[in-house]
Amino acid sequence: MNPFAYVRAHEPQLAIDAIAGASSARFLAGGTNLIDLMKNGVEQPQRLIDINRLDLAKIERLPDGGLRLGSLARNADTANNPLVRRHYPLVSQAILSGASPQLRNLATNGGNLLQRTRCPYFMDLGFAQCNKRVPGSGCAALQGFNRSHAILGASEQCIATHPSDMCVALAVLDASVRVRGKKGERMIPFADFHRLPGEIPQTDTNLLRDELILSIDLPASPYANHSQYLKVRDRASYEFALVSAAVALDLEDDRVRSARIALGGVAHKPWRCEEAEQGLIGKKIGRDVFEVAAKESIAGAKTYKYNKFKVEMAKNAVAQALATAGGLA
Ligand code: SF4
Repeated sequence: MNPFAYVRAHEPQLAIDAIAGASSARFLAGGTNLIDLMKNGVEQPQRLIDINRLDLAKIERLPDGGLRLGSLARNADTANNPLVRRHYPLVSQAILSGASPQLRNLATNGGNLLQRTRCPYFMDLGFAQCNKRVPGSGCAALQGFNRSHAILGASEQCIATHPSDMCVALAVLDASVRVRGKKGERMIPFADFHRLPGEIPQTDTNLLRDELILSIDLPASPYANHSQYLKVRDRASYEFALVSAAVALDLEDDRVRSARIALGGVAHKPWRCEEAEQGLIGKKIGRDVFEVAAKESIAGAKTYKYNKFKVEMAKNAVAQALATAGGLA
């Protein structure tokens, strides 16, 4: 691990000032991803700004009926919070499907959003080609073992996937990310928070370098009674998704008033399937209708040598999750 300076911030503005004034710095919260990356040399910040003492761990109702998840609330506390469980069970389900209990006790909501890809070529300095780690060096995964890689929204520069489960649920629920930087506070719609790789795969999000995540805000949701997170992975615990599906239905009797579908493990960001959602509106729920939506969800998929199976897997995951959310399974 490289030597680094350590600073502890007690106020958000002090944390923002500290990161703005350093050429290579990172905020430190749970550290469950960052410290791993520092140990293997992928991340080499010269300064760590510990933000754990900031008052950003509350989970509280918003005046419009929504819910504010503090960025420093631990994943375990968020998943087990009674308001989250009652009004946003999808978030609770998604978090509890990820990592181990020990990691969830330490990992924060803000950190969950900023997780970096687990592409093995990115994680291992032994591989010289990785545009995300060393811009312009190439992408070893394109011709390598790309079983876990993207089938949607990738570029020739990078075919990595985003590893978070929680983020797939947040994408479905139209969350916003409240951030503060040198220029003040702003809200980033969740769909715009993470990036597709395009020509600059080294940049994962649209968060500016000096911006601190304050909270994740969820609007009032009509989906509490009919939602489902389904994760498919190589083993039953402590594993990243090969594919996951987060779905939510607002039903009037047995007809769909509105629907939300997102896929995880298939793209550089949580993948919202808006055409499939639109196609469900007004339809009477049924296996056949859900199969059509599932097929639409993976429209435009492009596979590589070892990940062709993901297309069928993603389709089946969406169909099964919709059936469960609709009470058919
Ligand atoms: Fe690097 Fe992305 Fe290629 Fe993986 S897929 S080797 S992260 S450029």
